Amino acid sequence: LVAGLSLPLAVAALQASGLTVAPPDWNAAVTATLMLTAIGAVVAFYAWSLDAVMREAEGSRVALADANDQLSYALREAQSANHVKTQIVATVSHELRTPLTAILGHTDMLRAGLYGSLNDEQQHAVERAYTNSERLLRLINDLLDFSQLDGSKLSIRPEEMPLYSTVQDVAAMVQPAVAAKGLTLNLSFDQALPSMMVADPLRLRQVLLKLLENAVSYTESGSITLLVRRQALGDPQQQRDAVVFQVRDTGAGIPPRELALVFEPFRHSSTNPPATGGSGLGLTIVQQLVQAMGGTIEVTSFMGYGSTFTVTLPLEEGGD
Ligand code: ADP
Repeated sequence: LVAGLSLPLAVAALQASGLTVAPPDWNAAVTATLMLTAIGAVVAFYAWSLDAVMREAEGSRVALADANDQLSYALREAQSANHVKTQIVATVSHELRTPLTAILGHTDMLRAGLYGSLNDEQQHAVERAYTNSERLLRLINDLLDFSQLDGSKLSIRPEEMPLYSTVQDVAAMVQPAVAAKGLTLNLSFDQALPSMMVADPLRLRQVLLKLLENAVSYTESGSITLLVRRQALGDPQQQRDAVVFQVRDTGAGIPPRELALVFEPFRHSSTNPPATGGSGLGLTIVQQLVQAMGGTIEVTSFMGYGSTFTVTLPLEEGGD
């Protein structure tokens, strides 16, 4: 605009100072003025638009930075609330466990007759107190484990452990419940497996025990099979073989669409209502433990025929 206007001003100044401009030159000057004015107007318009866009972009950038700050703050708040919740659950569970263990110990001595003989009614009451305390302890242990999963504090302590006797011990632990329900328990152990392997014995027992307990809980007739075998990995890149633990039952089975759900916390299969004392946390904990040990867990099931839970762990052989 300044450039365009400057030309007629210059012409006017020349004329005012007595100099004349020839008509052809005058026409050229008018054309040039109009073109320059048009170009100036276009440039000014673009500059103005660009400025508006830039101002808008700056506004968006500031709003985005604000939103980002708010999000980080909300995330920090949520993380600290989650941490507090985890701490509370862990502390309360710990505090509950100690007195409960004492209650269980004394009730066990009572039912065993160490404080004198009991009549039938007293025996029945003590048995109920014992079973319910045991159930409570299991729930507290599940909650404690679950709170640790949440806080990613799950500890795995691998060590050299005897494989066969560990598996046998766990099978022996569920044998009374198996017999009480009139089921049979089969144990099949692959001779190609080493006698010692490196794994966390406590966690491995916890995983196998939970799978066997579930198999017993959700099976009304037939058998439970614990199969342990060595699995050669086809891929030569993989250095280690795997050890596969399979728990099969002849229970009601889990509908296909619910198979993945059973690993989620507090979820149950519609055909298998939660077992007495079942928190719905067992398989969530099992899955997390298996993954923390570098393994995988899968489930297959046929309605009316039973379910199979398969845990595959990397096999690190211990010295014999
Ligand atoms: P719970 O402590 O209630 O048993 P879990 O997490 O161990 O919880 O299992 C979740 C649900 O998965 C159970 O409530 C049951 O519905 C189903 N489930 C687990 N194991 C079996 C099984 N062997 N056969 C059939 N259903 C099972």
